[in-house]
Amino acid sequence: MNILFCTSEAYPLIKTGGLADVSGSLPKALLQLEHDIRLAMPAYPAALERAGALSEVSCLKLAGSDTPVRILRGRLPDSEVALYLVDAPEYFDRRGNPYLQADGRDWPDNAARFALFARACVSLSLGEGDPTWRAKLVHCNDWQTGLVPALLSQRAERPATLFTIHNLSYQGLFPASTFEALQLPHALWSIDGLEFHNQLSFIKGGIANADHITTVSPTYAREIRSEAFGYGLEGLLEHRSADLSGILNGIDPDTWNPGTDPRIARRYDVHTLQHKLFNKFTLQRDHGLPVSSQPLVLGYVGRLVEQKGVDLIVEILDQLAAHPVQVVALGAGEQALELQLREAARRYPRQVSIYAGYDEQLAHRLQAGADALLIPSRYEPCGLNQMYAQFYGTVPIARRTGGLADTIVDFNQATLDGRSATGLCFDDDSPEALLATCLSALSLYRNHRVDWWKLVIAGMQRDFSWTDSATRYSELYAALLHGDLADYARALRQREQHPPLSPRPRQAGQPLH
Ligand code: ADP
Repeated sequence: MNILFCTSEAYPLIKTGGLADVSGSLPKALLQLEHDIRLAMPAYPAALERAGALSEVSCLKLAGSDTPVRILRGRLPDSEVALYLVDAPEYFDRRGNPYLQADGRDWPDNAARFALFARACVSLSLGEGDPTWRAKLVHCNDWQTGLVPALLSQRAERPATLFTIHNLSYQGLFPASTFEALQLPHALWSIDGLEFHNQLSFIKGGIANADHITTVSPTYAREIRSEAFGYGLEGLLEHRSADLSGILNGIDPDTWNPGTDPRIARRYDVHTLQHKLFNKFTLQRDHGLPVSSQPLVLGYVGRLVEQKGVDLIVEILDQLAAHPVQVVALGAGEQALELQLREAARRYPRQVSIYAGYDEQLAHRLQAGADALLIPSRYEPCGLNQMYAQFYGTVPIARRTGGLADTIVDFNQATLDGRSATGLCFDDDSPEALLATCLSALSLYRNHRVDWWKLVIAGMQRDFSWTDSATRYSELYAALLHGDLADYARALRQREQHPPLSPRPRQAGQPLH
Protein backbone atom coordinates (compact mmCIF):
# COMPACT_ATOMS: atom_id res chain seq x y z
CA MET A 1 0.00 0.00 0.00
CA ASN A 2 1.25 3.51 -0.81
CA ILE A 3 1.53 5.39 2.47
CA LEU A 4 2.82 8.90 3.09
CA PHE A 5 4.17 9.19 6.66
CA CYS A 6 4.25 12.88 7.61
CA THR A 7 6.44 13.93 10.52
CA SER A 8 8.30 16.95 11.82
CA GLU A 9 11.30 14.92 13.04
CA ALA A 10 12.89 11.54 12.30
CA TYR A 11 16.04 9.91 13.68
CA PRO A 12 18.82 10.10 12.48
CA LEU A 13 17.99 13.23 10.47
CA ILE A 14 16.82 15.34 13.40
CA LYS A 15 15.58 14.47 16.88
CA THR A 16 14.14 16.22 19.90
CA GLY A 17 12.40 13.22 21.49
CA GLY A 18 10.46 10.01 21.04
CA LEU A 19 8.61 11.14 17.90
CA ALA A 20 11.91 11.08 16.01
CA ASP A 21 12.70 7.56 17.22
CA VAL A 22 9.27 6.35 16.11
CA SER A 23 9.41 8.15 12.75
CA GLY A 24 12.84 6.68 12.11
CA SER A 25 11.88 3.11 12.96
CA LEU A 26 8.17 2.41 12.32
CA PRO A 27 8.44 3.12 8.56
CA LYS A 28 11.34 0.65 8.36
CA ALA A 29 9.18 -2.03 10.01
CA LEU A 30 6.25 -1.23 7.69
CA LEU A 31 8.51 -1.45 4.66
CA GLN A 32 9.29 -5.01 5.72
CA LEU A 33 5.55 -5.69 5.62
CA GLU A 34 5.68 -4.76 1.93
CA HIS A 35 4.16 -1.31 2.21
CA ASP A 36 5.48 1.42 -0.06
CA ILE A 37 5.82 3.85 2.83
CA ARG A 38 7.49 7.21 2.24
CA LEU A 39 8.51 9.76 4.80
CA ALA A 40 7.78 13.48 4.39
CA MET A 41 9.66 15.97 6.57
CA PRO A 42 10.76 19.61 6.39
CA ALA A 43 14.24 20.12 4.91
CA TYR A 44 15.98 21.46 8.01
CA PRO A 45 19.74 22.00 7.55
CA ALA A 46 20.56 18.93 9.69
CA ALA A 47 18.29 16.79 7.52
CA LEU A 48 19.84 18.10 4.30
CA GLU A 49 23.31 17.35 5.65
CA ARG A 50 22.53 13.84 6.89
CA ALA A 51 20.21 12.60 4.14
CA GLY A 52 22.94 11.87 1.58
CA ALA A 53 22.10 12.11 -2.11
CA LEU A 54 18.91 14.02 -2.89
CA SER A 55 17.24 14.80 -6.19
CA GLU A 56 14.62 17.41 -6.95
CA VAL A 57 11.34 15.82 -8.02
CA SER A 58 9.17 18.94 -8.25
CA CYS A 59 8.84 22.58 -7.50
CA LEU A 60 5.46 23.48 -6.03
CA LYS A 61 3.67 26.79 -5.73
CA LEU A 62 1.95 26.59 -2.36
CA ALA A 63 -0.26 29.07 -0.54
CA GLY A 64 1.83 30.79 2.13
CA SER A 65 5.11 30.85 0.24
CA ASP A 66 6.08 33.50 -2.31
CA THR A 67 8.83 31.33 -3.66
CA PRO A 68 8.35 27.82 -5.10
CA VAL A 69 8.85 24.96 -2.65
CA ARG A 70 11.20 22.22 -3.81
CA ILE A 71 10.42 18.57 -3.11
CA LEU A 72 13.66 16.63 -2.74
CA ARG A 73 13.76 12.88 -2.84
CA GLY A 74 16.26 10.64 -1.10
CA ARG A 75 16.40 7.88 1.49
CA LEU A 76 16.20 7.76 5.23
CA PRO A 77 19.82 6.91 6.17
CA ASP A 78 20.60 3.22 6.84
CA SER A 79 17.29 2.15 5.35
CA GLU A 80 15.40 1.65 2.14
CA VAL A 81 12.63 4.05 3.19
CA ALA A 82 12.03 6.74 0.55
CA LEU A 83 12.25 10.27 1.90
CA TYR A 84 10.72 13.51 0.69
CA LEU A 85 12.22 16.68 2.12
CA VAL A 86 10.12 19.83 1.77
CA ASP A 87 12.65 22.52 0.94
CA ALA A 88 11.39 26.00 1.79
CA PRO A 89 14.50 27.81 3.10
CA GLU A 90 12.51 30.85 4.23
CA TYR A 91 10.80 28.58 6.79
CA PHE A 92 13.10 25.66 7.48
CA ASP A 93 16.68 26.79 6.89
CA ARG A 94 17.26 27.32 10.61
CA ARG A 95 19.79 25.48 12.73
CA GLY A 96 19.08 23.80 16.07
CA ASN A 97 15.74 22.75 17.47
CA PRO A 98 13.03 22.47 14.78
CA TYR A 99 10.41 24.20 16.91
CA LEU A 100 12.31 26.58 19.19
CA GLN A 101 14.65 29.51 18.86
CA ALA A 102 17.98 29.50 20.69
CA ASP A 103 16.36 31.29 23.66
CA GLY A 104 13.88 28.42 24.09
CA ARG A 105 10.86 30.30 22.76
CA ASP A 106 8.78 29.00 19.83
CA TRP A 107 9.66 30.31 16.39
CA PRO A 108 7.16 33.14 15.93
CA ASP A 109 6.11 31.81 12.51
CA ASN A 110 5.55 28.17 13.55
CA ALA A 111 1.93 28.31 12.31
CA ALA A 112 3.04 29.42 8.84
CA ARG A 113 5.93 26.91 8.80
CA PHE A 114 3.83 23.87 9.59
CA ALA A 115 0.87 25.03 7.50
CA LEU A 116 3.26 25.15 4.55
CA PHE A 117 4.60 21.71 5.43
CA ALA A 118 1.00 20.39 5.65
CA ARG A 119 0.19 21.84 2.23
CA ALA A 120 3.28 20.17 0.78
CA CYS A 121 2.17 16.84 2.33
CA VAL A 122 -1.30 17.25 0.81
CA SER A 123 0.26 17.86 -2.62
CA LEU A 124 2.57 14.88 -2.22
CA SER A 125 -0.28 12.62 -1.18
CA LEU A 126 -2.31 13.64 -4.23
CA GLY A 127 0.49 12.93 -6.68
CA GLU A 128 1.39 16.58 -7.30
CA GLY A 129 4.68 16.54 -5.40
CA ASP A 130 6.10 13.47 -7.14
CA PRO A 131 4.33 12.82 -10.45
CA THR A 132 5.30 9.13 -10.26
CA TRP A 133 3.65 8.42 -6.91
CA ARG A 134 0.47 9.14 -4.96
CA ALA A 135 -0.67 7.91 -1.56
CA LYS A 136 -3.56 5.66 -0.72
CA LEU A 137 -3.20 6.59 2.93
CA VAL A 138 -1.61 9.47 4.80
CA HIS A 139 -0.30 8.81 8.31
CA CYS A 140 0.13 12.08 10.23
CA ASN A 141 1.87 12.62 13.54
CA ASP A 142 1.25 15.29 16.16
CA TRP A 143 0.10 18.88 15.79
CA GLN A 144 2.71 19.86 13.22
CA THR A 145 0.84 17.68 10.70
CA GLY A 146 -2.68 18.28 12.05
CA LEU A 147 -3.71 20.44 9.10
CA VAL A 148 -3.12 17.60 6.63
CA PRO A 149 -6.33 15.63 7.45
CA ALA A 150 -8.23 18.94 7.71
CA LEU A 151 -7.11 20.13 4.28
CA LEU A 152 -7.65 16.71 2.74
CA SER A 153 -11.20 16.61 4.16
CA GLN A 154 -11.98 19.40 1.70
CA ARG A 155 -11.05 17.26 -1.29
CA ALA A 156 -13.58 15.05 -3.05
CA GLU A 157 -10.95 12.51 -4.09
CA ARG A 158 -8.55 11.93 -1.26
CA PRO A 159 -6.47 9.25 0.41
CA ALA A 160 -7.53 7.77 3.75
CA THR A 161 -6.12 9.61 6.77
CA LEU A 162 -4.72 8.45 10.10
CA PHE A 163 -3.62 10.83 12.83
CA THR A 164 -1.35 9.64 15.64
CA ILE A 165 -1.15 11.59 18.89
CA HIS A 166 2.31 11.27 20.43
CA ASN A 167 1.69 13.92 23.06
CA LEU A 168 -1.65 15.68 23.48
CA SER A 169 -0.30 18.55 25.54
CA TYR A 170 1.48 20.03 22.51
CA GLN A 171 -1.45 21.29 20.44
CA GLY A 172 -0.27 23.98 18.05
CA LEU A 173 -2.57 26.73 19.36
CA PHE A 174 -2.50 30.13 17.66
CA PRO A 175 -4.64 33.29 17.73
CA ALA A 176 -7.83 33.17 15.67
CA SER A 177 -6.40 35.82 13.34
CA THR A 178 -3.77 33.29 12.20
CA PHE A 179 -6.55 31.30 10.54
CA GLU A 180 -7.18 34.16 8.09
CA ALA A 181 -3.49 34.85 7.66
CA LEU A 182 -2.89 31.24 6.61
CA GLN A 183 -5.69 31.47 4.03
CA LEU A 184 -7.26 28.24 5.24
CA PRO A 185 -10.62 27.20 3.76
CA HIS A 186 -13.44 28.99 5.60
CA ALA A 187 -15.36 25.75 6.00
CA LEU A 188 -12.71 24.63 8.48
CA TRP A 189 -13.44 27.42 10.98
CA SER A 190 -15.98 25.77 13.24
CA ILE A 191 -16.17 23.91 16.49
CA ASP A 192 -16.11 20.67 14.46
CA GLY A 193 -13.06 21.91 12.59
CA LEU A 194 -10.05 23.92 13.69
CA GLU A 195 -11.59 26.28 16.23
CA PHE A 196 -10.78 25.68 19.88
CA HIS A 197 -12.17 28.31 22.26
CA ASN A 198 -11.74 30.99 19.61
CA GLN A 199 -8.19 29.92 18.87
CA LEU A 200 -6.77 28.06 15.90
CA SER A 201 -5.85 24.50 16.92
CA PHE A 202 -3.63 22.49 14.59
CA ILE A 203 -4.05 19.27 16.57
CA LYS A 204 -7.82 19.51 16.25
CA GLY A 205 -7.35 19.38 12.50
CA GLY A 206 -6.10 15.84 12.94
CA ILE A 207 -8.41 14.73 15.73
CA ALA A 208 -11.62 16.06 14.20
CA ASN A 209 -10.90 15.21 10.56
CA ALA A 210 -8.80 12.07 10.31
CA ASP A 211 -10.59 8.84 9.43
CA HIS A 212 -9.00 7.24 12.45
CA ILE A 213 -6.93 8.43 15.39
CA THR A 214 -4.34 6.43 17.24
CA THR A 215 -2.22 7.20 20.20
CA VAL A 216 0.90 5.41 21.28
CA SER A 217 -0.41 3.15 24.03
CA PRO A 218 -3.78 1.62 24.92
CA THR A 219 -3.76 3.17 28.41
CA TYR A 220 -3.08 6.69 27.07
CA ALA A 221 -5.92 6.15 24.54
CA ARG A 222 -8.24 5.75 27.54
CA GLU A 223 -6.63 8.47 29.67
CA ILE A 224 -6.97 11.25 27.08
CA ARG A 225 -10.74 10.87 27.13
CA SER A 226 -10.72 12.14 30.72
CA GLU A 227 -10.49 15.72 31.99
CA ALA A 228 -7.22 15.02 33.81
CA PHE A 229 -5.35 14.09 30.61
CA GLY A 230 -7.46 15.60 27.83
CA TYR A 231 -6.24 19.23 27.85
CA GLY A 232 -9.75 20.36 26.93
CA LEU A 233 -10.00 17.90 24.03
CA GLU A 234 -11.47 15.05 26.10
CA GLY A 235 -15.00 15.79 24.85
CA LEU A 236 -13.97 15.58 21.20
CA LEU A 237 -11.90 12.48 21.88
CA GLU A 238 -14.82 10.83 23.66
CA HIS A 239 -17.04 11.79 20.73
CA ARG A 240 -14.54 10.09 18.42
CA SER A 241 -13.87 7.16 20.73
CA ALA A 242 -15.14 4.62 18.18
CA ASP A 243 -12.34 5.81 15.88
CA LEU A 244 -9.64 6.05 18.53
CA SER A 245 -7.24 3.28 19.46
CA GLY A 246 -3.87 2.79 21.11
CA ILE A 247 -0.94 1.01 19.48
CA LEU A 248 2.25 0.70 21.50
CA ASN A 249 5.47 2.03 20.08
CA GLY A 250 8.32 -0.35 19.43
CA ILE A 251 12.05 0.19 19.52
CA ASP A 252 14.63 0.04 16.77
CA PRO A 253 17.10 -2.75 17.56
CA ASP A 254 19.52 -1.36 14.96
CA THR A 255 19.96 1.68 17.20
CA TRP A 256 19.12 0.43 20.69
CA ASN A 257 20.56 -2.98 21.43
CA PRO A 258 23.09 -3.69 24.21
CA GLY A 259 24.47 -6.58 22.17
CA THR A 260 25.49 -4.42 19.21
CA ASP A 261 25.50 -0.81 20.49
CA PRO A 262 28.74 0.85 19.30
CA ARG A 263 28.23 3.76 21.69
CA ILE A 264 28.58 1.83 24.95
CA ALA A 265 31.81 0.90 26.71
CA ARG A 266 31.28 -2.85 26.49
CA ARG A 267 28.51 -4.75 24.71
CA TYR A 268 26.52 -7.39 26.52
CA ASP A 269 23.44 -9.51 26.45
CA VAL A 270 21.58 -11.65 28.93
CA HIS A 271 24.40 -14.24 28.86
CA THR A 272 27.22 -11.74 29.41
CA LEU A 273 25.67 -9.53 32.04
CA GLN A 274 28.99 -9.13 33.83
CA HIS A 275 29.86 -6.60 31.11
CA LYS A 276 27.04 -4.38 32.32
CA LEU A 277 29.14 -3.79 35.42
CA PHE A 278 31.95 -2.49 33.21
CA ASN A 279 29.47 0.00 31.74
CA LYS A 280 28.47 1.02 35.27
CA PHE A 281 32.11 1.68 36.22
CA THR A 282 32.63 3.65 33.00
CA LEU A 283 29.55 5.76 33.70
CA GLN A 284 30.70 6.46 37.26
CA ARG A 285 34.21 7.35 36.10
CA ASP A 286 32.96 9.58 33.26
CA HIS A 287 30.75 11.48 35.69
CA GLY A 288 33.33 11.94 38.41
CA LEU A 289 31.61 9.60 40.86
CA PRO A 290 33.43 7.00 42.99
CA VAL A 291 33.76 3.80 40.97
CA SER A 292 32.16 0.93 42.84
CA SER A 293 29.62 -1.82 42.38
CA GLN A 294 28.13 -1.09 45.81
CA PRO A 295 25.86 1.93 45.28
CA LEU A 296 22.66 1.61 43.31
CA VAL A 297 23.11 3.87 40.29
CA LEU A 298 19.85 5.59 39.40
CA GLY A 299 19.75 7.18 35.94
CA TYR A 300 17.51 9.80 34.39
CA VAL A 301 17.35 10.57 30.67
CA GLY A 302 14.80 12.94 29.26
CA ARG A 303 13.47 16.39 28.79
CA LEU A 304 13.63 18.53 31.94
CA VAL A 305 9.92 19.38 32.06
CA GLU A 306 7.08 19.04 34.53
CA GLN A 307 5.56 16.18 32.51
CA LYS A 308 8.53 13.98 33.33
CA GLY A 309 8.29 14.54 37.10
CA VAL A 310 11.87 15.82 37.30
CA ASP A 311 10.82 18.05 40.20
CA LEU A 312 9.92 14.90 42.16
CA ILE A 313 13.45 13.62 41.64
CA VAL A 314 14.87 16.97 42.77
CA GLU A 315 12.74 16.82 45.91
CA ILE A 316 14.05 13.45 47.05
CA LEU A 317 17.75 13.92 46.34
CA ASP A 318 18.56 14.98 49.93
CA GLN A 319 16.89 11.88 51.33
CA LEU A 320 18.42 9.60 48.69
CA ALA A 321 21.88 10.96 49.50
CA ALA A 322 21.62 9.40 52.97
CA HIS A 323 21.73 5.98 51.28
CA PRO A 324 24.28 4.14 49.13
CA VAL A 325 22.82 5.59 45.95
CA GLN A 326 24.27 7.55 43.03
CA VAL A 327 22.17 9.57 40.59
CA VAL A 328 23.26 10.38 37.05
CA ALA A 329 20.93 12.67 35.10
CA LEU A 330 21.00 13.68 31.45
CA GLY A 331 18.50 16.24 30.24
CA ALA A 332 17.75 19.52 28.60
CA GLY A 333 14.78 21.77 29.14
CA GLU A 334 13.56 24.12 31.85
CA GLN A 335 16.37 26.13 33.37
CA ALA A 336 14.94 26.08 36.89
CA LEU A 337 15.04 22.28 36.97
CA GLU A 338 18.53 22.22 35.50
CA LEU A 339 19.68 24.65 38.18
CA GLN A 340 18.17 22.58 40.99
CA LEU A 341 19.87 19.45 39.69
CA ARG A 342 23.18 21.33 39.41
CA GLU A 343 22.84 22.54 43.00
CA ALA A 344 22.21 19.00 44.21
CA ALA A 345 25.30 17.85 42.29
CA ARG A 346 27.29 20.56 44.09
CA ARG A 347 25.93 19.44 47.47
CA TYR A 348 26.61 15.76 46.81
CA PRO A 349 29.56 15.60 44.43
CA ARG A 350 30.17 11.93 45.22
CA GLN A 351 26.56 10.96 44.62
CA VAL A 352 24.83 13.22 42.12
CA SER A 353 25.92 14.16 38.62
CA ILE A 354 24.04 16.10 35.96
CA TYR A 355 24.84 16.58 32.30
CA ALA A 356 22.63 19.40 31.10
CA GLY A 357 22.22 19.19 27.35
CA TYR A 358 21.38 16.78 24.61
CA ASP A 359 23.80 13.94 23.98
CA GLU A 360 22.78 10.84 22.07
CA GLN A 361 25.92 8.87 23.01
CA LEU A 362 25.53 9.62 26.69
CA ALA A 363 21.87 8.50 26.57
CA HIS A 364 23.06 5.07 25.41
CA ARG A 365 25.91 4.91 27.94
CA LEU A 366 23.56 5.88 30.73
CA GLN A 367 21.06 3.18 29.80
CA ALA A 368 23.90 0.64 29.76
CA GLY A 369 25.61 1.82 32.95
CA ALA A 370 22.76 2.61 35.35
CA ASP A 371 21.25 -0.07 37.57
CA ALA A 372 17.80 1.51 37.46
CA LEU A 373 16.13 4.30 35.51
CA LEU A 374 13.90 6.91 37.14
CA ILE A 375 10.73 7.66 35.14
CA PRO A 376 8.33 9.44 37.51
CA SER A 377 6.27 10.95 34.65
CA ARG A 378 3.00 12.71 35.45
CA TYR A 379 1.74 11.41 32.13
CA GLU A 380 3.51 9.38 29.50
CA PRO A 381 1.83 8.71 26.14
CA CYS A 382 4.12 5.74 25.54
CA GLY A 383 7.67 6.47 26.60
CA LEU A 384 10.62 4.79 24.97
CA ASN A 385 13.14 5.11 27.77
CA GLN A 386 11.54 2.42 29.90
CA MET A 387 11.70 0.03 26.94
CA TYR A 388 15.34 0.85 26.23
CA ALA A 389 16.03 0.46 29.95
CA GLN A 390 14.48 -3.01 30.16
CA PHE A 391 16.33 -4.16 27.06
CA TYR A 392 19.58 -2.86 28.59
CA GLY A 393 18.93 -4.67 31.88
CA THR A 394 18.27 -1.40 33.71
CA VAL A 395 15.28 -1.69 36.02
CA PRO A 396 12.66 1.04 35.48
CA ILE A 397 11.28 2.83 38.55
CA ALA A 398 8.19 4.46 37.09
CA ARG A 399 4.81 6.00 37.68
CA ARG A 400 1.99 3.75 36.58
CA THR A 401 0.57 5.89 33.78
CA GLY A 402 0.09 5.71 30.00
CA GLY A 403 2.59 3.56 28.17
CA LEU A 404 4.60 3.01 31.34
CA ALA A 405 1.66 1.05 32.76
CA ASP A 406 1.44 -0.93 29.52
CA THR A 407 5.11 -1.86 29.20
CA ILE A 408 6.44 -2.45 32.72
CA VAL A 409 5.42 -5.44 34.83
CA ASP A 410 5.39 -4.24 38.43
CA PHE A 411 7.34 -6.23 40.95
CA ASN A 412 5.33 -8.24 43.50
CA GLN A 413 5.57 -11.77 44.81
CA ALA A 414 3.37 -13.22 42.06
CA THR A 415 5.14 -11.49 39.18
CA LEU A 416 8.50 -12.31 40.72
CA ASP A 417 7.59 -15.98 41.09
CA GLY A 418 6.23 -15.98 37.54
CA ARG A 419 9.47 -14.32 36.38
CA SER A 420 7.51 -11.62 34.62
CA ALA A 421 8.36 -8.67 36.92
CA THR A 422 10.54 -6.12 35.13
CA GLY A 423 10.29 -2.93 37.20
CA LEU A 424 8.92 -1.08 40.19
CA CYS A 425 5.85 1.13 39.75
CA PHE A 426 4.02 3.63 41.96
CA ASP A 427 0.76 5.55 41.63
CA ASP A 428 0.90 8.88 43.48
CA ASP A 429 2.72 11.72 41.81
CA SER A 430 4.37 12.60 45.10
CA PRO A 431 8.01 12.68 46.20
CA GLU A 432 7.09 10.29 49.04
CA ALA A 433 5.85 7.65 46.61
CA LEU A 434 8.92 8.01 44.42
CA LEU A 435 11.27 7.86 47.41
CA ALA A 436 9.55 4.79 48.87
CA THR A 437 9.85 3.01 45.51
CA CYS A 438 13.52 3.95 45.15
CA LEU A 439 14.18 2.57 48.64
CA SER A 440 12.37 -0.66 47.75
CA ALA A 441 14.60 -0.92 44.71
CA LEU A 442 17.66 -0.29 46.88
CA SER A 443 16.60 -2.99 49.31
CA LEU A 444 16.11 -5.46 46.46
CA TYR A 445 19.46 -4.52 44.96
CA ARG A 446 21.41 -4.80 48.20
CA ASN A 447 19.61 -7.52 50.13
CA HIS A 448 17.87 -9.73 47.56
CA ARG A 449 20.29 -9.77 44.68
CA VAL A 450 18.83 -12.94 43.16
CA ASP A 451 15.42 -11.27 42.89
CA TRP A 452 17.04 -8.16 41.45
CA TRP A 453 18.65 -10.26 38.70
CA LYS A 454 15.28 -11.84 37.97
CA LEU A 455 13.91 -8.38 37.18
CA VAL A 456 16.93 -7.51 35.08
CA ILE A 457 16.76 -10.72 33.07
CA ALA A 458 12.98 -10.66 32.59
CA GLY A 459 13.28 -7.11 31.21
CA MET A 460 16.07 -8.04 28.82
CA GLN A 461 14.04 -10.97 27.52
CA ARG A 462 10.99 -8.93 26.62
CA ASP A 463 10.23 -8.33 22.97
CA PHE A 464 9.93 -4.59 22.39
CA SER A 465 10.58 -4.76 18.66
CA TRP A 466 8.13 -3.25 16.19
CA THR A 467 7.03 -6.63 14.86
CA ASP A 468 3.73 -6.76 16.72
CA SER A 469 2.85 -3.07 16.58
CA ALA A 470 3.75 -2.67 12.89
CA THR A 471 1.34 -5.53 12.20
CA ARG A 472 -1.35 -3.66 14.15
CA TYR A 473 -0.74 -0.54 12.03
CA SER A 474 -0.82 -2.65 8.91
CA GLU A 475 -4.19 -4.14 9.91
CA LEU A 476 -5.49 -0.67 10.65
CA TYR A 477 -4.30 0.68 7.29
CA ALA A 478 -6.09 -2.19 5.54
CA ALA A 479 -9.28 -1.56 7.51
CA LEU A 480 -9.12 2.16 6.71
CA LEU A 481 -8.68 1.51 3.05
CA HIS A 482 -11.39 -1.08 2.74
CA GLY A 483 -13.83 0.77 4.98
CA ASP A 484 -14.25 -2.10 7.48
CA LEU A 485 -13.27 0.04 10.44
CA ALA A 486 -16.20 -1.13 12.53
CA ASP A 487 -14.79 -4.69 12.48
CA TYR A 488 -11.34 -3.38 13.31
CA ALA A 489 -12.67 -1.36 16.25
CA ARG A 490 -14.60 -4.35 17.56
CA ALA A 491 -11.54 -6.58 17.41
CA LEU A 492 -9.52 -3.90 19.16
CA ARG A 493 -12.01 -3.47 21.96
CA GLN A 494 -12.03 -7.20 22.47
CA ARG A 495 -8.25 -7.19 22.68
CA GLU A 496 -8.34 -4.34 25.19
CA GLN A 497 -10.94 -6.08 27.33
CA HIS A 498 -8.89 -9.25 27.37
CA PRO A 499 -5.28 -8.08 27.35
CA PRO A 500 -2.60 -10.72 27.66
CA LEU A 501 -2.02 -11.49 31.34
CA SER A 502 1.62 -10.64 31.13
CA PRO A 503 3.54 -8.90 28.37
CA ARG A 504 5.00 -10.98 25.63
CA PRO A 505 8.22 -12.71 26.57
CA ARG A 506 10.49 -13.76 23.74
CA GLN A 507 10.12 -17.43 22.86
CA ALA A 508 12.95 -19.72 23.88
CA GLY A 509 15.49 -19.86 21.10
CA GLN A 510 14.00 -16.86 19.35
CA PRO A 511 16.72 -14.34 18.48
CA LEU A 512 16.74 -11.06 20.37
CA HIS A 513 15.24 -9.34 17.35
P1 ADP B 1 9.54 12.15 24.89
O1 ADP B 1 9.27 11.83 23.46
O2 ADP B 1 8.35 12.55 25.67
O3 ADP B 1 10.65 13.14 25.05
P2 ADP B 1 10.37 9.36 25.11
O4 ADP B 1 10.76 8.52 26.27
O5 ADP B 1 9.28 8.84 24.25
O6 ADP B 1 10.06 10.82 25.63
O7 ADP B 1 11.64 9.53 24.16
C1 ADP B 1 12.73 10.28 24.52
C2 ADP B 1 13.86 10.02 23.54
O8 ADP B 1 14.71 11.16 23.54
C3 ADP B 1 14.73 8.85 23.91
O9 ADP B 1 15.33 8.31 22.75
C4 ADP B 1 15.80 9.50 24.82
O10 ADP B 1 16.98 8.76 24.87
C5 ADP B 1 15.98 10.81 24.08
N1 ADP B 1 16.45 11.91 24.93
C6 ADP B 1 15.70 12.70 25.72
N2 ADP B 1 16.46 13.64 26.30
C7 ADP B 1 17.72 13.43 25.87
C8 ADP B 1 18.99 14.08 26.10
N3 ADP B 1 19.09 15.12 26.91
N4 ADP B 1 20.08 13.60 25.46
C9 ADP B 1 19.97 12.53 24.64
N5 ADP B 1 18.81 11.88 24.38
C10 ADP B 1 17.71 12.33 24.98
